[in-house]
Amino acid sequence: MSESTVTTPARPSAKPRKVPRIVILGGGSVGLYSARRLRRRLGNREAAIVVVDPRPYMTYAPFLPEAAAGSIDARHVVAPHRRALKGIDALQGKVSAIKHAERTVEITPEEGDPYWITYDHLIVGLGSVARTLPIPGLAEQAIGFKNVEEAIAVRNHVLGRIDRASSTWDADLRKRMLTFTFVGGGFAGVEAIAEVEDMARDAIKQYKSLDAEDLRFVLVEGSRRILPEVSEELGGYTLEQLRKRGIEVFLSTFLNSCVDGHVVLSDGTEFDSETIVWTAGVKANPVLQNSDLPLDRIGRVIALPTLQIADAEGNVVPDAYAAGDCAAVPDLTNPGQFCPPNAQHAIRQANHLADNLARVLRSAEPTDYSHKNIGAVASLGMYKGVAQFMGRIKVRGFLAWVMHRTYHVMAMPTWNRKISIMAGWTANLLWRREVVPLGSIHDPRAEFRAASVPPKPKPAPAEDHSPVPSTEATPSASA
Ligand SMILES: Cc1cc2nc3c(=O)[nH]c(=O)nc-3n(C[C@H](O)[C@H](O)[C@H](O)COP(=O)(O)OP(=O)(O)OC[C@H]3O[C@@H](n4cnc5c(N)ncnc54)[C@H](O)[C@@H]3O)c2cc1C
Repeated sequence: MSESTVTTPARPSAKPRKVPRIVILGGGSVGLYSARRLRRRLGNREAAIVVVDPRPYMTYAPFLPEAAAGSIDARHVVAPHRRALKGIDALQGKVSAIKHAERTVEITPEEGDPYWITYDHLIVGLGSVARTLPIPGLAEQAIGFKNVEEAIAVRNHVLGRIDRASSTWDADLRKRMLTFTFVGGGFAGVEAIAEVEDMARDAIKQYKSLDAEDLRFVLVEGSRRILPEVSEELGGYTLEQLRKRGIEVFLSTFLNSCVDGHVVLSDGTEFDSETIVWTAGVKANPVLQNSDLPLDRIGRVIALPTLQIADAEGNVVPDAYAAGDCAAVPDLTNPGQFCPPNAQHAIRQANHLADNLARVLRSAEPTDYSHKNIGAVASLGMYKGVAQFMGRIKVRGFLAWVMHRTYHVMAMPTWNRKISIMAGWTANLLWRREVVPLGSIHDPRAEFRAASVPPKPKPAPAEDHSPVPSTEATPSASA
């Protein structure tokens, strides 16, 4: 990135810039799509664009369950910033503070001291984090399912447990290893458990000492139904399908504790499980608390339908825009409600936001964002799915699964990734997906560490008090 972008370490210079600088916080769905659209709308002489994210890539989260199940190569569900953001500066680091009044943000890089950068216009697309609860054992035992690193870890962990369970005769340990618990029955949780169970069932066929009946998958949901994003009927159908596959679904039930992998549910059920995946909702990125931007009571940036940030009275905060999971954007098709946190809205809002910012820079009026939810598609494992369109059209099974794949592959950014994903699917049809655990990638230095430990000095030979001379006792020693 250009030298002039970074002010080290302190405040903005008062010197006016020749080209206005747009800083985009977060390089996810909102960040990547708004940056690309802005670059298309505005020439290099009209605006400099900088995207800030600790990761060098955008993750297309709707494909995470398939990445965990090995139906898609994990590398293909991410779009690398350096490749996807042509003509845009990508800055790797975490935003740690926002002072919009001074038009500065603080960046904390992975290594080195934090520094400040200045801007003329701000786009906030910082997304969300897992909404956790202070449940005993949760922080120590559970893993989230929000990013590609977690999806790969869940895959390797599940396949690794199956591998280890096949080599143990301890029945209790085996049961504990083969019990997989998912908490949260929304889209992410249902797709994750359905895809991972499908993969595990596939994998277990390779083990003579294990049987599909040895696998136990448990879904815990606090409300009285799963998949609140689709109709009761389709949610009910999905529940029926999961139960038919042997997945135990606990409704209106909460996780009370999971200390050392001992799961206790609110209805009194108890069991041991070495795998606990937390998919029970999201909350706006907490770094927003360290900003002077107006937030609502659940920590989202307050936005107008134009995607401009506004104060609690609805007055526009100049030069500031927000969209996606971290923003409270009024849903004009559903008066009194806000747009739900999903990729369908995030990507559309990003494009609309970019168009509005380009309009404002050219002294035109911004327009309102309005999008009627077109429906929802969910994959439930190989060749299984559910879909609902326009509120009325419901599709199940193979056709819904094809629709899921088609819709999401088209939404995946860059043709390079779309083609790679489709090529992977075709290869899986011919050779079946790979179900080998690569658990050691999570600690690749373990073997080298063990090899590098100097050998322990041998204990000195004990004093020989025997009446027979030692050379005679060990004839080979003298040979
Ligand atoms: C498992 C799963 C399945 C899903 N399935 C669907 C689906 O089928 N359909 C659907 O419509 N939606 C789905 N979603 C939701 C959808 O992915 C999100 O709503 C969407 O990605 C939100 O976009 P965003 O840009 O607001 O956030 P994100 O795409 O999450 O981007 C936020 C970005 O901010 C970055 N960031 C975080 N902290 C900082 C910081 N301090 N400084 C700088 N950058 C930071 C992150 O690295 C990330 O790149 C799913 C989500 C998950 C987790």
